[in-house]
Amino acid sequence: MAERSDCIFCRIVAGEIPADVVHEDEHTVAFRDLDPKAPVHVLVIPRRHIASISDAADTDAAVMGALLLAARDVAAVEGVAEGGYRLVVNTGAAANQTVHHVHVHVMGGRDMRWPPG
Ligand code: AMP
Repeated sequence: MAERSDCIFCRIVAGEIPADVVHEDEHTVAFRDLDPKAPVHVLVIPRRHIASISDAADTDAAVMGALLLAARDVAAVEGVAEGGYRLVVNTGAAANQTVHHVHVHVMGGRDMRWPPG
């Protein structure tokens, strides 16, 4: 799906809304969460609009893989790779997905409990 003017994350990719960008590559952009829930809390998103994991097509394999590899790189640059970190992809209403543009939360810098709430 093309960029959507009603999607806040598409607008960040387009540079229409400011964000604290920490990583960019061909497929992804990563920026700090506006309301961090951990000392390191970065969102990695695809440049192209995909509403959720459930909306990803088999042909999106490259971009979905790029999201995880970008999350790996963000964790390393942010200094949490060695100690450990959590990747979260809230998907759909029951998981409280609030922004309907796929995003991987990269969270670290504190002890992560299990199970999550
Ligand atoms: P989720 O609940 O998984 O959909 O997560 C959406 C996340 O996006 C939340 O953690 C918000 O704090 C974050 N968020 C919403 N708008 C922005 C923004 N403009 N810049 C950075 N983070 C944002």
